[in-house]
Amino acid sequence: MKAFLSDKQAAHYPEHFLENGVFEQNPEMPERINRLRAGALAAGCSLHEPQNHGMGPIAKVHTPEYLAFLKHAYKRWGYIKGASDAVIPDIRPTTRDGHYPASVVAQAGYHMSDASSPITADTWDSICWSAWTAVDTANAVLTGDKLAYGLCRPPGHHASADIAGGFCYFNNSAIAAAHLQQKYPRVAILDVDLHHGNGTQQIFYNRDDVLTVSIHADPVRFYPFFWGHAAERGAGRGLGYNMNLPLPRKTADAEYLATLQTALTRIEAFAPDALVIALGLDASEDDPFGGLSISPVGFREIGCMIAASLPCPTAVIQEGGYLSDILGHNLTQFLNGLETP
Ligand SMILES: [Zn+2]
Repeated sequence: MKAFLSDKQAAHYPEHFLENGVFEQNPEMPERINRLRAGALAAGCSLHEPQNHGMGPIAKVHTPEYLAFLKHAYKRWGYIKGASDAVIPDIRPTTRDGHYPASVVAQAGYHMSDASSPITADTWDSICWSAWTAVDTANAVLTGDKLAYGLCRPPGHHASADIAGGFCYFNNSAIAAAHLQQKYPRVAILDVDLHHGNGTQQIFYNRDDVLTVSIHADPVRFYPFFWGHAAERGAGRGLGYNMNLPLPRKTADAEYLATLQTALTRIEAFAPDALVIALGLDASEDDPFGGLSISPVGFREIGCMIAASLPCPTAVIQEGGYLSDILGHNLTQFLNGLETP
C-alpha cells in the first residue's frame, strides 16, 4: 500500500491549548508523524511525498472567507499590540446570523469553535500539506490503487466548512471524499476516531451522495458535546445519510466490533463506489484521552471487518491518535487487517 506524508506538516507546533480554563500542553504534536510513519513502514507501506495541489481541492469543501482567514490571520493578529504569538479566539458569536466581522479578533471567534486549534506562524503551510496529503491519497485510489493511506497531520474531522476546532483546520477526510467524486459519485465516510466527526457531518449533512457514519465515545459528556448523538440523521435530501453510533466510555473490542457491524451494514446498503476511512487511533486503550478501550488486536479486527464487508476502493485518512507507546503499532495492526485478503 502507498502511504503519503510530508514532513512539512511537522512545522505546525502549537505548544499549548486552553482546557478547563488552564493552558495545557497540546497533545497534537509533530512527534505523532514519526510514530505513525514507523507504523506505516512496519505494515509494509511505501512512502510517497504529496504534491502541491493549490486551493482547488480544498475549496470544494471550505468557504472562500475561511480560506482567506486561515491564510492571513497570523500576520493580521501580529499587528495587534501585545497580542499572543498564536491566534486564539476570545469572543464567539452565539448565533451566526449577524454580520461577518472585519476585525481579525472577531473573525477568530467566527471561524474557531474552541481554543484547541491556535494559528501559529507555521500553521497555514502545515495544514495545506496535510490537505494535499489527503488529495494524493485520493489520487492513488483514483488511478487504480485499491487502498492508500494518508498520514495527514494536523487532523481534520472536527473542521466544518468554515470553522476550525479540536486540533483541526482543513477537513482532510471530506477533501478526499470530494476529490474521489470525480470518478466515484457515491462515497461513504466511516469515521472510527474516538471523537465524533462533527465537521464532516456538517459538511455533508444535507447531501445524499456522501454517506457519513461515525462510531465514537458518547458526546453526552465528551468532546464535541453538541454533536454526535444518534438522533442526528441528516436533513433535507441528506435525511438518513448521516449515522451516529455513540458508545459508552471504556467500551472494549467485543462491543465495539458489534457496533462496527451495524455501521458496515448501513454502508453496504448505501453501495458506495468508494470509501474514506477517517482513521483516528485515539480509541486505543493506551491513548491519553482514555475514552474507549480498543486493543491492538481490536484495531486489526476493525481493519479485517471493513475489508471483508466493503471491497471498494478505499482511502484511509489519518485523524486523531495521540502519543503512546503503541500508537504506531495500532496503525500497523489496522493497515494489516485492512490488507487481509
Ligand atoms: Zn479524536
